[in-house]
Amino acid sequence: MKVMLIGSGGREHCIVWKIKQNQEVKELYCIPGNGGISSLGVCNTLNTLQDMVQFAKEKEINLTLVGPEAPLAKGLVDLFQSAKLAIVGPNQDAARLESSKVYAKQFMKKNKIPTAQFEVFNRSDSAITYLKSGLNFPLVIKADGLAAGKGVFIVEDEEEAEDVVVDLMVNKIFGDAGNQIIVEECLEGEEATIMFLFDGKSYCILPSSQDHKRIGDSDVGPNTGGMGAYSPAPLVTDQILKKIEVNIIHPFIEGIQQEKLDYRGVVYLGLMITHHSDIHVLEFNVRLGDPETQVVLPRLRNDWLDLSLALYQGSLSKVKLEVDAQKLLGVVLTSRGYPGNYEIGKRIDGLEDFPNEPQGKVLVFHAGTQIKDNQIVTTGGRVLNVCAFGDTLKKAAYNAYLAIGKISFENMYYRRDIGYRAFHREG
Ligand code: ATP
Repeated sequence: MKVMLIGSGGREHCIVWKIKQNQEVKELYCIPGNGGISSLGVCNTLNTLQDMVQFAKEKEINLTLVGPEAPLAKGLVDLFQSAKLAIVGPNQDAARLESSKVYAKQFMKKNKIPTAQFEVFNRSDSAITYLKSGLNFPLVIKADGLAAGKGVFIVEDEEEAEDVVVDLMVNKIFGDAGNQIIVEECLEGEEATIMFLFDGKSYCILPSSQDHKRIGDSDVGPNTGGMGAYSPAPLVTDQILKKIEVNIIHPFIEGIQQEKLDYRGVVYLGLMITHHSDIHVLEFNVRLGDPETQVVLPRLRNDWLDLSLALYQGSLSKVKLEVDAQKLLGVVLTSRGYPGNYEIGKRIDGLEDFPNEPQGKVLVFHAGTQIKDNQIVTTGGRVLNVCAFGDTLKKAAYNAYLAIGKISFENMYYRRDIGYRAFHREG
């Protein structure tokens, strides 16, 4: 079996690590990969989607998996399908559930999936008139298109709201992503993630997780791609999970079938759970989350290649997920300055203590790393994910921070409170 994975982050390192445990996998390619992935498979840089199709043909790849959203939004699945190559993921049309927030909100409204009240605007003047019509603040303004997690603004008053509208729609800070905007109700509560596998008919819910988006301890400072995560999320009780299944997953699937969308892959639900246990969908992602994947996949006893094949073949109804009872918590080590400017090229020490054995209690997944002159050096803002198991999340956190003590690079930064909300719930 020859497998190819598109992507370069911690999520992709974790997927490759998991897939590599299948003895049937003889060749594994990652495009472009990173310093950690390169010890498990062949990393290659390809510039265009067409190059990926060509590469898959030349190497006779049996199955391609996709980590990030951008290639899905650009139609990679459609190209592979036209070339009769096996790939897992939604086609471009279905990927609009992530690449267009307007489409996602309209899909939710049509299918009665609970989400924040919203209005859509395609002209700045009408958006500003609406925002100055005596509404209650705070409100949330979102650019329609992909903006690398930076296209969402919580605004406190009319003036701030007008500035955001002008930035998005007139100054075009995110280009065409701001052609349309959404103004929506600001929800209060706690966020959690549920991802599920969906083959067009059947679904399997993956273990719950929760990440930490802000850069600073106690959730302060700017948003990041994610500073750490844990699984399970005690916030998602069995009762809440049942509600998610009935009120969100079932209508989602009906909606996909009614719209005749070609969706075989992972569905990511970004959820807001209010203090009264009301659940709203904040966003759909059409792929695995990062850093949630790094704490969810290692807990699965199932083989990831088998699951991916079941997704591709539409045989998910035969699958039963088995989840390790041990909890898993991961801390992201970043280059100081991230999510703003930061330096790269710093040598990372201490990684030899973490061989990432399949049954390892501590797993280190690389995000922004590269091998240079036989040394592993930093190449990105998010550099490593240090994940550790424990009987409780508190113990998992203890183990993760103990491991971090052995790793170092110049200007290394990380949050010291990953998991803090969950610890209260564990008692
Ligand atoms: P990501 O970086 O995860 O892809 P995104 O840019 O696609 O994010 P959303 O997930 O929709 O955007 O929103 C980002 C964050 O903004 C959410 O995680 C949440 O913290 C906050 N947010 C979004 N919508 C709302 C809302 N209606 N009420 C309160 N907070 C919200």
